[in-house]
Amino acid sequence: VDFAWTAEQEDLHRAAREVAEHLPLAPGASGEPNPHRFAREAWDAAAAFGLTGLNAPSAYGGLGLDLLSTAHVLEGFGEGCGELGLLFSVAAHLFACCGPIAHAATDTVKDSMLPELLTGRWVGANGMTETEAGSDVMAVKSLAVRDGDAYRITGEKTMVTNGPIADVTIIYASTDPVGGYLSLSAFAVPRETSGFVIGQPLLKTGLGSSPMCSVYLDDCTVSERNLLGGEGQGALIFQASMQTERACLVAGYLGAMTRQLSQVVQFAKDRKQFGRPIGSNQAISHRIADMKLRLEAARLLVYHACWLLDHSREAMLAVSMAKLAASEAAVQAGLDAIQISGGLGVMSDTGIDQLLRDALPSTIFSGTSEMQRDIIAARLGL
Ligand SMILES: Cc1cc2nc3c(=O)[nH]c(=O)nc-3n(C[C@H](O)[C@H](O)[C@H](O)COP(=O)(O)OP(=O)(O)OC[C@H]3O[C@@H](n4cnc5c(N)ncnc54)[C@H](O)[C@@H]3O)c2cc1C
Repeated sequence: VDFAWTAEQEDLHRAAREVAEHLPLAPGASGEPNPHRFAREAWDAAAAFGLTGLNAPSAYGGLGLDLLSTAHVLEGFGEGCGELGLLFSVAAHLFACCGPIAHAATDTVKDSMLPELLTGRWVGANGMTETEAGSDVMAVKSLAVRDGDAYRITGEKTMVTNGPIADVTIIYASTDPVGGYLSLSAFAVPRETSGFVIGQPLLKTGLGSSPMCSVYLDDCTVSERNLLGGEGQGALIFQASMQTERACLVAGYLGAMTRQLSQVVQFAKDRKQFGRPIGSNQAISHRIADMKLRLEAARLLVYHACWLLDHSREAMLAVSMAKLAASEAAVQAGLDAIQISGGLGVMSDTGIDQLLRDALPSTIFSGTSEMQRDIIAARLGL
């Protein structure tokens, strides 16, 4: 086992952190980022660095990185960001939209969409979730019916990250009313497609600068060229995209936890009560030791999951453990930082509560903690 990063991986990690530190969302930037505003200028700066095409094929304008390097870059970016909404939007774009197109689209669609997406001129999204189909994706009701050389899709998707601003959204719909694993199909749907209706923005706790909405498919007519893979390939395409998203996206949280840990250590040294630093109390120092332990354990699980995916090894168990450990460590780190900071921890202008707010959705998106535990248990034969 070789734990050393190459010079190139270290350089990219450091550069990503520095780019993030200079974005309007960076900690200490003047003014509070609008909690529900997508910052296009920050997106463009991240795209100019290459973030919107990290692991995508270089032939189409991506950086062509492996997933371990991709995760390490996102980790650096998360360390530099004061708020993780932009990173989350980039990850949804990259893993749940660009990935499926790069792997399964027709050459015509790849040629027309990937250069726009990977350079960040276009924003990508994906719509699987429906009001009655969350964890149970097989309950999807959206229906795609063939009509000549096109498909007419009817249905409704909700909680679509980037939906309000996306230029293309991967829509999952059933092409076989009988249902089952092979009934789902995936379509790359451009924003201007007739019958593709974008709903009002949905406001959420945390990740505020990542926009979200429902989208309505009202006889949405998509060319057969935009079908990804073939009829019935949707579930496989979605599963592959979730594997990379789960493994890499949470690396951004590792970075945020790294930054918060160093701030907490400094605070525990500086803040004095009863005539001594609060960190000299075991109740505080042991809480910080546990923060470090959870962070490093999650970090190794994330790296290992990415390594397995890069080497085309069986990774389902490792990916679920990585996603679960990193997201739950982030929630706990957010709580710990607030508790250690006392009243300052809940003063909005200190930004100390930001990690907790951004971490809360992480145990839900890309498959809930319960679903990850189900996968782990199933891999153990339960
Ligand atoms: C920030 C954020 C961004 C998102 N972005 C997107 C996006 O871009 N595209 C998209 O399609 N979706 C997106 N989602 C939706 C996300 O995928 C779903 O929220 C998630 O899959 C859970 O579905 P649900 O919210 O319907 O909860 P439910 O599935 O209704 O679950 C409710 C609770 O029940 C538990 N539960 C459900 N079934 C079981 C079971 N069998 N055993 C034990 N517990 C169970 C769950 O774990 C959870 O605790 C996003 C969600 C969030 C929070």
